[in-house]
Amino acid sequence: MSGILLITEQNAGSWHRMSFEALGAALQLGTALNLPVHACILGSNVGPLAAEISAYPLAAVIALESGALAEYTADGATSALAWLVDQLQPDYVIAPHTYRARDFAPRLAARFGRSLLADVTGMRLDGPSPVFQRQLFQGKLTADYAFDSPAPNFVSVQAGSFRAVEPAAAGAPVESKTPPAAEIRQKPEPAFQEQGRAVDLTAAERIVAVGRGIREEGNLVLAQELAQALGAELGASRPICDNGWLPMERQVGSSGQTVAPKLYVAVGISGAIQHVVGMKGAACIVAINKDPAAPIFEIADYGIVADLFDAVPALTAALQSS
Ligand SMILES: Cc1cc2nc3c(=O)[nH]c(=O)nc-3n(C[C@H](O)[C@H](O)[C@H](O)COP(=O)(O)OP(=O)(O)OC[C@H]3O[C@@H](n4cnc5c(N)ncnc54)[C@H](O)[C@@H]3O)c2cc1C
Repeated sequence: MSGILLITEQNAGSWHRMSFEALGAALQLGTALNLPVHACILGSNVGPLAAEISAYPLAAVIALESGALAEYTADGATSALAWLVDQLQPDYVIAPHTYRARDFAPRLAARFGRSLLADVTGMRLDGPSPVFQRQLFQGKLTADYAFDSPAPNFVSVQAGSFRAVEPAAAGAPVESKTPPAAEIRQKPEPAFQEQGRAVDLTAAERIVAVGRGIREEGNLVLAQELAQALGAELGASRPICDNGWLPMERQVGSSGQTVAPKLYVAVGISGAIQHVVGMKGAACIVAINKDPAAPIFEIADYGIVADLFDAVPALTAALQSS
């Protein structure tokens, strides 16, 4: 096959959200290079998930199923995927840059004598060849990378860097394959349970995020009222959480949450790269900032150059009266 193989991620029958961002990246690359995209999903009894993802414009969905894949192990995933890559001979293999992919994807690439181009944030075409972007030095530099190795080449994509796509009801064929038995040296421990959080920003459809422009804790109420009027969750840039004005779980960015809501309203946030990597996957970004040169406007769909102390109450009032 000449094409792209997308590796999706699921856990106990539930999708990892980043699977759909990696799907967006794979489809973008497929469209640019005019290559078909095959998606694979590993596990046991993954038929319903395979049927779900078949609604996307894919050439095929491969359910890679065996009892040995019921629980994730690096050996099981690497061996099953290496077998599939051998069968399909794709040009590119794309995975979401999840903790799990960090575990198996470098091994998978090494099986083919390749390295993994990890944590990619963007891509473009340079003539017929794709050029991928990665960030260096905590996001201070963005570097271009192109493969000079023959296929297959391996890429993982950063959370929030590519937009999740909507299903097209295309009805891709679903194929079930059983990989050969592999030697599995790891014994999975019980799944890590995150401490219960009061808020899950990653699941929010709308977020009003507040930054240092708000000046003091007492002014947060302005952002809270706007969030309430929009039915949105409240998020923040790092200085707000560092000050203890909002809990850390509300921080968006490279050392906080990566979010991809339908609407993200950035209030008094400059748009530092460490913030932007956590929210640029939002479908619609509205920025309110009094500085017309603030970097946040470079990625905003709608920009309001105004003093937030005028604009935010006016917006809230307009929403409340509508
Ligand atoms: C390793 C590392 C990790 C980091 N991780 C994160 C992270 O996860 N998330 C994160 O957010 N940051 C993170 N940062 C910090 C990041 O570099 C920025 O310092 C931070 O995002 C800036 O926050 P801000 O935009 O709220 O503040 P500022 O950069 O100070 O911007 C405030 C903005 O408000 C505007 N403003 C001021 N007054 C008004 C007003 N009255 N009306 C309208 N606009 C106004 C200003 O024009 C300005 O653009 C990290 C930094 C490092 C080094």
